[in-house]
Amino acid sequence: MTTSSQSVRDALLDRAVQAQLHAYAPYSGFHVGAAILADNGEISAGCNVENVAYPLGQCAEATAIGNMVTGGGNSIKHIVIASPNDDFCYPCGGCRQKIKEFAGPDTVVELLNQKGKTRTVSVEELLPFAFTL
Ligand SMILES: [Zn+2]
Repeated sequence: MTTSSQSVRDALLDRAVQAQLHAYAPYSGFHVGAAILADNGEISAGCNVENVAYPLGQCAEATAIGNMVTGGGNSIKHIVIASPNDDFCYPCGGCRQKIKEFAGPDTVVELLNQKGKTRTVSVEELLPFAFTL
């Protein structure tokens, strides 16, 4: 990894999986966890939180970003997103924009499947031609 030490990366992977265990997903059964290393060195995690009114549900990435901001973080150095199956769980379109809001040029987006396999992508790869002001 380019933005964090191996032990910090291990902690991020662990926190994403731990958050996944707390996902509230009674409607989809799709449990996702995310963990962020912020510019202030803090790790914030989040899980998806569904609602019976489906559009009100919140993705794990959004929960983690909200927790990062609440903890005083201003930007994402590294985010891990843990999938509940063998496929990588790429962020939805809305979350790509939310990640972009707090991303820097070197932000690492790492995807983790349930077998422990990872893939790293850049924010530019996830959201080319991003909307900005
Ligand atoms: Zn999302």
